[in-house]
Amino acid sequence: MKKTCFALAGALVLFSAAARPTQQAAKPAAPAIPVRYEELTAPEFVQAVARSGATCVIPLGILEKHGPHLPLGTDLIDCREVSLRAAAEEYTIVFPPYFVGQIFEAKHQPGTIAYGSRMLLDFLQQTCDELARNGIRKIILVNGHGGNDSLLRYFCQSQLETRRDYAVYLFDPAYDAATEARLAKLRKTTLDGHAGEEETSVMLAHHPDLVHLDRAGAESGEDVKRLAGLKYAYTGIWWYAGQPNHYRGDGSAGDKEFGKALLEAESGLLVEMIRSVKKDTVTLELQKRFFDDAAKPLETKPFIKK
Ligand SMILES: [Zn+2]
Repeated sequence: MKKTCFALAGALVLFSAAARPTQQAAKPAAPAIPVRYEELTAPEFVQAVARSGATCVIPLGILEKHGPHLPLGTDLIDCREVSLRAAAEEYTIVFPPYFVGQIFEAKHQPGTIAYGSRMLLDFLQQTCDELARNGIRKIILVNGHGGNDSLLRYFCQSQLETRRDYAVYLFDPAYDAATEARLAKLRKTTLDGHAGEEETSVMLAHHPDLVHLDRAGAESGEDVKRLAGLKYAYTGIWWYAGQPNHYRGDGSAGDKEFGKALLEAESGLLVEMIRSVKKDTVTLELQKRFFDDAAKPLETKPFIKK
């Protein structure tokens, strides 16, 4: 099929060139190269770094229970889908499946892989360092797992610990009012957050073979509020206190159309983010200035707005 298309396209180019000999032939499009890091050859990787504007997306998932009806790798599978869709529209390199993250709160459930806290930071830092050693200057973290939220913000803050010649950006999507309203119309449940309506819908939209909708009601995803008496306090056991089944919401409300809308909305924002990161020169410039000053803080001049 592909070969036929190429042959036909070639014939059309020849025909139009013959018909309009004075016009310049269209510049041939650069050959397609994979977006998936692991599929690139080494020479293609060199091209990919240039074509991506030295950017790379790391979609971060986890291995944890997702109710009685979704796969352990739900977050990983979903955030890779969002990243691959965005990369197909705005070229960037997509890092291989990354399942090292914060998931201590699900250690009581089967299948959880919960690496140690220091290892999580070291592994991500060394991954970024290695990407930078290979020419990547802008690393985009796309988080698919709620348990990583604090870790990844801390990781971004910790990038100021020592001088680096690359920048880390965390995808931080926020929908506009129109998108929120469109999604709200499709949403059926009010309690959600883990393996509920949203995640089940997204998986139904792109990997329905991995969803066992008939099992979604086999466990309760209610918030049982076992720490309701605690005021103005955060404690690590909060999630287990509310969600002992590591399930929040009702996956049986999952719907393919809602999932399609969620995937489109999120990947659309990621496309915008990738474009803005490619254009961004300020972050690296400010990082450099910051590290210069941090090396000699007594010589730091007052900032004067020009
Ligand atoms: Zn999840």
